[in-house]
Amino acid sequence: MPELPEVETIKLQLGKFLVGHKIVYVEVKNRRVFQGDENKIINAKVLGTRRFGKVTVIDLDNKYSILTHVKLTGQFIYRGPNLKTESLSNKVTGGLNGPHTLVIFNLDRGGVLYYNDVRRFGWIRIEKTIDVENESFIKKLGPDMLVLSLKDFEKIVLKSSRNIKVHLMDQTKIGGVGNIYVNDALWLSKINPKRASKTLSTEEIKLIFNALNTVLQAGLKYGGASELAFVTPDGKEGEYQNHTLIYGRQNKSCQNPACRQAGAKIEKFFLGGRGTYWCKICQK
Ligand SMILES: [Zn+2]
Repeated sequence: MPELPEVETIKLQLGKFLVGHKIVYVEVKNRRVFQGDENKIINAKVLGTRRFGKVTVIDLDNKYSILTHVKLTGQFIYRGPNLKTESLSNKVTGGLNGPHTLVIFNLDRGGVLYYNDVRRFGWIRIEKTIDVENESFIKKLGPDMLVLSLKDFEKIVLKSSRNIKVHLMDQTKIGGVGNIYVNDALWLSKINPKRASKTLSTEEIKLIFNALNTVLQAGLKYGGASELAFVTPDGKEGEYQNHTLIYGRQNKSCQNPACRQAGAKIEKFFLGGRGTYWCKICQK
């Protein structure tokens, strides 16, 4: 499932492509993924984009907003002005205006925004901008990792006796941190994912905080990770999956030279139902 860097990339690219454009016509091919009345957004101009955890919000100039969560396999793909190339990743399931294209936003000046979703768990919702921050999932969301201070991070970590990996992934405590990046951050900070949060020292918490920011920034730099169906609105793939530190590397050597020399192999197990990667030599 897309995490902070993937959704932030969606937000930034949609902002780049859509701001200043008017929505001319919306073709809804699937009523389950599209909630609300598309007529409310016709002739409205896009003012900007925001992100709340893994939800992207597109704000319009007529006091309405489009909220969306791509979940497992949702894809926004833009074609039209401002696009450098028309190249299209073959991860775009079924192509554009294909069997998995569920919503088409037609914009002025020939721009088109497609929404594809093969599993159909994602959603798009039209509602008044004033109601956005009253959505229960937004109210319940913890502070976003990209703006969280070390001091507040430490407070959140020390409040729980759950293991650190599960705790960091709880969106009601911290927004946006998911499985790929938390695995990599715990490896980078040399912390065992099973450690009880409140047993961590101030120094260890600082290491995790810095490591999370490092891997999230790397994720952003690479346009996210295209593990399953994630593509960026310009029709390309993210590259972070080719640069993971420990995620997806079970039975491979640890990248830490001392561990490699000792012949350590990365172990995989499940913690809170999610794939967890661990080097037992360097992650204490
Ligand atoms: Zn190691």
